[in-house]
Amino acid sequence: MHTTALVLFSGGQDSTTCLAQALAKYRRVETVGFDYGQRHSVELKARLVVLQQVRAQFPQWAGKLGDDHVLDLAVLGQVSETSLTRDTAFKMESSGLPNTFVPGRNLLFLTLAAALAYRRDLQVLVTGVCETDFSGYPDCRDDTMKAMQLALSLGMDKRFLIDTPLMWIDKAATWSMAEALGGQALVQLIIEHTHTCYLGDREHRQDWGYGCGSCPACELRARGYAAYAAAPPAG
Ligand code: ZN
Repeated sequence: MHTTALVLFSGGQDSTTCLAQALAKYRRVETVGFDYGQRHSVELKARLVVLQQVRAQFPQWAGKLGDDHVLDLAVLGQVSETSLTRDTAFKMESSGLPNTFVPGRNLLFLTLAAALAYRRDLQVLVTGVCETDFSGYPDCRDDTMKAMQLALSLGMDKRFLIDTPLMWIDKAATWSMAEALGGQALVQLIIEHTHTCYLGDREHRQDWGYGCGSCPACELRARGYAAYAAAPPAG
């Protein structure tokens, strides 16, 4: 029986929804974030605010929510400076990805998360990867996650589970999942405090949250929110 989890938590809409799901599902939950460049400084601030808001607004979850960890991954900046990865980054950004694409980035995240989970005695790694909205992103695919789960479990001789609650749903359904887990309070928390915008824009408030409104990440979030808002209320 898996009862403890480490959530890969970036401070965005997806990982915040995953965090809520983990808090509803597991007995003890910790969070981990990765610091690997200037662009994410807004995101790193947002994740602390989100954690604080979750604790304040959801007392039923606050007691389960344990330590937050931030790992320094400056090495990713060194890898992504090669011209090869710069070409790849451009291609992936035009296809709707929120950040500079570094091949294998999620593999590295999961490996480090597993090492941390091992030390913290946490059984499940929860990640907001999704095939539905990111079909071109090979290290978000379900097959990759299954292979990682096996590799990490064998390589660390500990039976890890990789839990991917968003794998087969789209952005509209991610909003609906948040509502099912934490009602309008959680939806509003996500709108107000999570960060998705590729450009780090926290000045412009849209109906779906803060962001420039025109980068691929904002477009994806806006489109999902519009579909969710247009749908008849659940139940
Ligand atoms: Zn944006």
